[in-house]
Amino acid sequence: MTGSDTLLFDRIALIGAGLIGSSLAGAVRRDQLAGHIAVAARSQTTLDTMTDLSLADSTSLDAAEAVQDADLVVLCTPLGAYESVARTIAPALKPGAIVSDVGSCKEIMISDVAPHLPDGVHLVPGHPVAGTEHSGPEAGFAELFEGRWCVLTPGPEADKNAVERVRDMWRRSGMNVEIMDAGHHDKVLALTSHLPHLIAYTIVGTATDLEDDLKQEVFKFSASGFRDFTRIAASDPVMWRDIFLKNSDAVLDVLGRFTEDLTSLQRAIRRGEADKLDEHFTRTRAIRRGVIDAKQE
Ligand code: NAP
Repeated sequence: MTGSDTLLFDRIALIGAGLIGSSLAGAVRRDQLAGHIAVAARSQTTLDTMTDLSLADSTSLDAAEAVQDADLVVLCTPLGAYESVARTIAPALKPGAIVSDVGSCKEIMISDVAPHLPDGVHLVPGHPVAGTEHSGPEAGFAELFEGRWCVLTPGPEADKNAVERVRDMWRRSGMNVEIMDAGHHDKVLALTSHLPHLIAYTIVGTATDLEDDLKQEVFKFSASGFRDFTRIAASDPVMWRDIFLKNSDAVLDVLGRFTEDLTSLQRAIRRGEADKLDEHFTRTRAIRRGVIDAKQE
């Protein structure tokens, strides 16, 4: 039970305080969702920034120290750090603590985190589907979550009360919350997020490999479409490296489909098949309307 009517948790611990961790700390602070925010990170600079921003009540370079007595622990590190963080914090978790995360892939919580958790600790994986191309604690802002979706992927055996409390935290931070199977989440996000990032990284990489004179023209006329890809391709390299490594099966599956569709359009262009191109572009234009209708533009 929490210590006050408005508090959801007496003490929460955030492991990692970059864009998402600091945004969550901001929302928890603004909406008074926890009595104490403990923060762990790798560098003292990050911890000092969190203190300066009044987003941490206590800080530690040791994740095990940060989770002591925490009711909720949220992993906010890149996915590649999950297993070592889970090993580190496991002995220090209090019985009944909830362990959640904000990671962009969800089966990883089953493979890399769950095996290390002691009995009596509740696992409620989460993914706030909201972000920017910026990183670090100063990039965070509490409004990041407003009107966006948060996906929770608790297993069928998960403690209902724990799921409800994590759901409440995201709801009160401004998000719509959906419960989903972890594997399904990873397939959906492979298409809606991971593939678009891979395409952006590829296009921008292709441009940077051009000869110098052509490259200058690419930057000059970038507003014709290229610019939007550069924004996506400016996203954090470590975060995206880990996403592709940890969700490789789902990404390779959608990439296969995408490659087939690209080849089909390539053939239509070569053969001058106007009707086929027309029909395809008309169909995809309608998708934009769906995104706008869902208020996710
Ligand atoms: P970020 O800005 O790069 O911050 C990562 C944080 O993790 C930093 O504070 C870093 O500490 C800390 N960290 C790294 N390894 C650690 C370790 N072993 N122990 C303790 N702390 C460690 O990353 P982010 O953009 O917030 O992303 C964090 C997570 O959110 C990722 O799993 C990502 O998949 C997910 N996510 C990101 C977005 C997005 O748009 N960025 C959206 C939704 C979900 P130092 O600062 O001290 O190095």
